[in-house]
Amino acid sequence: MPWVLRGLRNGVVTTGYPRRSDPYAEAFPASVRPLVVGSANGVPVDDTLCPTGAIHNRAGALQLDAGQCILCGRCVRERPDLFGWVSGSQTARLHRQALVVPQLPETDEAVELVRRQLAARVRRMFRRSVHIRHVDAGSDGSEEWEALALLNPVYDVHRLGIFFTASPRHADVLLITGVGSHGMAEPLRRTVEATPRPLVVIAAGTDAVSGGLVAPSYAVAEGIGELVDVDVWVPGSPPSPFSLLHALLLAVGRIPPEGR
Ligand code: SF4
Repeated sequence: MPWVLRGLRNGVVTTGYPRRSDPYAEAFPASVRPLVVGSANGVPVDDTLCPTGAIHNRAGALQLDAGQCILCGRCVRERPDLFGWVSGSQTARLHRQALVVPQLPETDEAVELVRRQLAARVRRMFRRSVHIRHVDAGSDGSEEWEALALLNPVYDVHRLGIFFTASPRHADVLLITGVGSHGMAEPLRRTVEATPRPLVVIAAGTDAVSGGLVAPSYAVAEGIGELVDVDVWVPGSPPSPFSLLHALLLAVGRIPPEGR
């Protein structure tokens, strides 16, 4: 009885995303980006500022690789004149280079090509449910908490026809978290082999995208891209459930890519 009363009192808590925008998703601090674009000539940036080496001063332009950023906030705290937080949850990208801000000039074309190839591959997924097999390839566990949240009443991915499955043989999408530890290279390869085609692989979280804080090292790859072909890249340490949801919808072609 108390549960019924609580349900009636709280009403519907499930987000309307992606049918309509969600203020919480928009307000989520999703990434850090340089405030100085294309004019960093002479701007001194300490090489040790970023613990993961996500900040580069290339050819006089300040660039930040969101795929290496663990969202520690040190750059914003120490150089608020150069870096600032960006809110929003639509952080997944179809091309690894598209995670670098500001984007390289050739990235738009490359993203469009990847988008067309992925759309052709997943056309069959448009009208049916999608099953996800999660693989932990050396995660610290934080991404798993966010992925698990997708099943709670707020995100409720079942309403979108998205389900988690225990076997790669029933999966359409592999959601891979973790840095890509060497011990997981072979299980990961066998999981990919066992999954029917068409298959979409999502690298979920900064660790999976680039190896994060611990790569390179003797024990891990620099992200799972070194071990398997990746279709969708989701930065964040960890990415929010909204970002994971965005990646899943992007993977099956239900929303257009952002940041092109
Ligand atoms: S937030 Fe931290 S990890 Fe990300 S770019 Fe800034 S210093 Fe590097």
